[in-house]
Amino acid sequence: MYEYRAPRRDFQFVIHEVLEAERVLAGLGRADVNRELIDGILEEAARFTETVTSPLNWQGDWEGPTVADGAVSVPPAFKAAYQQYCRDGWAGMAADTEFGGQGLPALAHIAVGEMLCGSAMAWRMASGLSEGAVLAISRHGSDALKTRYLEKIVTGEWTATMCLTEPQAGTDLGILRTRATPAADGSFAVSGTKIFISWGDHDMVENIVHLVLARLPDAVPGTKGLSLFLVPKRIEGKANGVRCESIEHKMGIHGSPTCVMSFADAKGWIVGSPGGGLACMFTMMNHARLGVGLQGLGLSERALQAGVSYAFERLQGRSARGPVAREKNADPIIVHPDVRRMVLTLKALTEGQRLLAYYTYLLEDTEHFAASQEERDHAKELVALLVPIVKSLLTDTAMETTSLAVQVHGGAGFIRETGAEQFLRDAKISCIYEGTNGIQALDFLGRKVLGNGGASVKLLAAEIAKSLAGDLPEALQPWALAVKAGVEEWAALTRLVGERVQKDPEELGAAAVDYLNFAGYVVVGWCWLRMARVATAALAGGSAEKAFYEGKLAAARLYFERLLPRTQTFAAAVRAGAATLPTLTREHFAA
Ligand SMILES: Cc1cc2nc3c(=O)[nH]c(=O)nc-3n(C[C@H](O)[C@H](O)[C@H](O)COP(=O)(O)OP(=O)(O)OC[C@H]3O[C@@H](n4cnc5c(N)ncnc54)[C@H](O)[C@@H]3O)c2cc1C
Repeated sequence: MYEYRAPRRDFQFVIHEVLEAERVLAGLGRADVNRELIDGILEEAARFTETVTSPLNWQGDWEGPTVADGAVSVPPAFKAAYQQYCRDGWAGMAADTEFGGQGLPALAHIAVGEMLCGSAMAWRMASGLSEGAVLAISRHGSDALKTRYLEKIVTGEWTATMCLTEPQAGTDLGILRTRATPAADGSFAVSGTKIFISWGDHDMVENIVHLVLARLPDAVPGTKGLSLFLVPKRIEGKANGVRCESIEHKMGIHGSPTCVMSFADAKGWIVGSPGGGLACMFTMMNHARLGVGLQGLGLSERALQAGVSYAFERLQGRSARGPVAREKNADPIIVHPDVRRMVLTLKALTEGQRLLAYYTYLLEDTEHFAASQEERDHAKELVALLVPIVKSLLTDTAMETTSLAVQVHGGAGFIRETGAEQFLRDAKISCIYEGTNGIQALDFLGRKVLGNGGASVKLLAAEIAKSLAGDLPEALQPWALAVKAGVEEWAALTRLVGERVQKDPEELGAAAVDYLNFAGYVVVGWCWLRMARVATAALAGGSAEKAFYEGKLAAARLYFERLLPRTQTFAAAVRAGAATLPTLTREHFAA
């Protein structure tokens, strides 16, 4: 069973050497968050996740929660870890100081989020959902709701959920049926059934605050008729009309109770304006989408660690170039080029995407803290563009990385005790919830790209061009050209799809997933170029960490020569268009 090890050195590399956090944060007026503070947080979080949360991962997978008489119980170790999490102050890192939080910029706590996801994804979901709810309530809630609920959620004393999905309404929220009827005292009576509600009930805390999408009696049909309600499990200690009917038996994240929740005239209060529910929920969902991207990244990191460990330990066969471990009866499997292909692919995907995720969070800091409105708007547009890429690319990649980790292990990878197969099972849900990856791609291409005539893509292209300016070492020139060519082809694909969509709206859906993947691979190529530049400079400067930086360059090379070429397949699929996805009847599939 693999325990989690925090990739401390890579956090340092990305946060300090590539993103230059200290300088950037000082420019944003947050000079108080210096390297020493960030490193202190990283070290403490590494210790916490390696020793406290990592064992929860497999414990939750084997034991899981149970439900009896409408109440969910989680393994006792979950509760103890959660109490320590709150006691140690991890819960309120991002939240505003006004509500009991620490108001830290994302660059100071993003790696903590990754460590929590990587060490115990299912357990982490409880606190991750609360963070999103804090954002939604603090931006859209009334002063009374903020006073009554925020501090309790910020400190972790209570947790929160998001209740959207119903049996007949998943992606299509416009057909939600849950109702909210106004009461004389200004509250609402909420009734309906929500399914698949993560951490909908549990015994780690005494109260749970549900954010529920529902319809007022006079609501218009569709999503414009949805309003958001805050519905607590308990009000002043007394049970409200909220009950967990059952929990799901699932493929993965066994440690997270996925609940069917019934609301029977449950007392709640509106958050935001009538009919504005979806917009309020989007505050929570955008946070959650980046958070789900971090889940993908955390699992890829686990896959990388497991793959590397096994590749250096397992003895099978001999190197094609002659025995390496002569004293043993076989060489470690890392001698085989195909195993190196797998572990280097793990490294190139995981570490490249880490920079993409952290860069996106740095842009969120800029959106939040920059002095000028212009800078804030610029960052906001880039964040909006990158959120669906981070959510979708990092989670689809987690399916590849976790599968590779199993493959490196051979038969042992398929056996539960080894622990690698859990990562693969856990990864799949990240491609589904918070809007499936297909829906992310539609959002990306439809709203974020074509919705503003490709302006956001041009903004990102300008950022990329800016960072490529100046002297680049000779050895990196071909990679810079590859990124430049990718950006140009991205623009050409945008024009092509834009024109086609004018004639046939189905061209959008036909292109979206491949278009997003194309863009994602190009942006990660840019990330690798940035990292290669730093590594090259460190080596030229005679760094004592030669192997670390050489490892970076090896992964960069693999990315550019073996993974970036995948863009050609994505581009071909985009160009193939809707004509290759004809409308067929069931009979066409007869076999
Ligand atoms: C473990 C787990 C935890 C969850 N946690 C929560 C939670 O905490 N709160 C909550 O509210 N929900 C939660 N969900 C629900 C989750 O968000 C939904 O399952 C998800 O949004 C997809 O909805 P669906 O399952 O109804 O699939 P459907 O909407 O039926 O989609 C089926 C397929 O059709 C595709 N599709 C659907 N509509 C379109 C379209 N317009 N264009 C293109 N393709 C389309 C989808 O991409 C998908 O591939 C959870 C689900 C699971 C399994």
